[in-house]
Amino acid sequence: MTTSAVPRPGLREVGPYDAPQLEVAVRLNANECPVPLPAAFSDDLATAVAELPLHRYPDGRMQALREALSTRVGHPVEGIWPANGSNEVLTELLQAYGGPGRRAAVFEPTYLLHRRLCWLTQTEILERRLQAPFRIGPADLAWAVDEGPDVVFVCSPNNPTGNTQPMETIAELAGSTRALVIVDEAYVDFGGESALGLVSRHPSVVVVRTFSKAFALAGARIGYVLAAPAVVEDLQRVRLPYHMSALTQIAGLTALRYADEAAASIAAIRDERDRIVQALSGIDGVTVFPSQANFVLFQTPGDAKAVWRGLLDRGVLVRDLTAVLPNALRVTAGTAHEVDLFLKSLEEVLA
Ligand code: PMP
Repeated sequence: MTTSAVPRPGLREVGPYDAPQLEVAVRLNANECPVPLPAAFSDDLATAVAELPLHRYPDGRMQALREALSTRVGHPVEGIWPANGSNEVLTELLQAYGGPGRRAAVFEPTYLLHRRLCWLTQTEILERRLQAPFRIGPADLAWAVDEGPDVVFVCSPNNPTGNTQPMETIAELAGSTRALVIVDEAYVDFGGESALGLVSRHPSVVVVRTFSKAFALAGARIGYVLAAPAVVEDLQRVRLPYHMSALTQIAGLTALRYADEAAASIAAIRDERDRIVQALSGIDGVTVFPSQANFVLFQTPGDAKAVWRGLLDRGVLVRDLTAVLPNALRVTAGTAHEVDLFLKSLEEVLA
């Protein structure tokens, strides 16, 4: 049945955002960690959950989680703010620093959610397209300065291209604009340098991180920002009351006790990523982009959608990025076994 209620203008021209979650043997489409945290983590979490006073609202200031994060990352508690995935952190940042009449600069191709969250928060998008190797160069910096945005997004390592941006670029953006410079470091554990060192010198730089990738906790939905305390105060003005449930907070706190175990699988994931790059660069007609993240972007000879389908028929799901770059697919570095299956299937499909 249709409704006579009229939604926000333009709403129905936009589809829901979700990556396909197909039931396949090898899921290499969402840049997740291929192995879970140890079973002891789940046991500890179950015990901790059983003790939660769930008839009460959770700690709205998330003090225990913020203190544990502070110890882990070496940043003051007042400058840390968690939310339900880094997507929610980014939304809150845009609610506070973007919004109607304000503008955000985005260097494409990048994480599609940056644009989408601008749309969601009615922040105007200023777009600058970069060419391979997707570095933000002097002309791009000059563009950002001239446009005078309120927010600038930098994703490093960048999704989907895998490259990083130099610290000098981020410092330059912070020094020459009055924008909030949001550095999305979802993949920083896999390579590149963190911009956290810039935060104390440039209070307009904020670093956004997630538990969804290297921390093997995508299902728990936890992300956080490392920022100047004034930014965190601003986020408290837009956040929903008690936005992070007691269940999520305890999952984060418990997981932090397993940070070393989570970090132990990073080296193996990097090795698999490098193996993918090496194997793909040996295939005629395939263009592969170097990566510092846990995924690899590549362009197929011929129709990438047909390649995507051929891989799926063999039980391997990768990400179709043909809408972002011609004939581009992105594959997550999984376990050695998963990567073997991907490479074998790709060889068959391309033959
Ligand atoms: N930033 C980037 C660059 C990402 O690729 C992703 C996940 N695909 C996110 C943020 C979102 O992560 P989360 O699960 O923390 O919302």
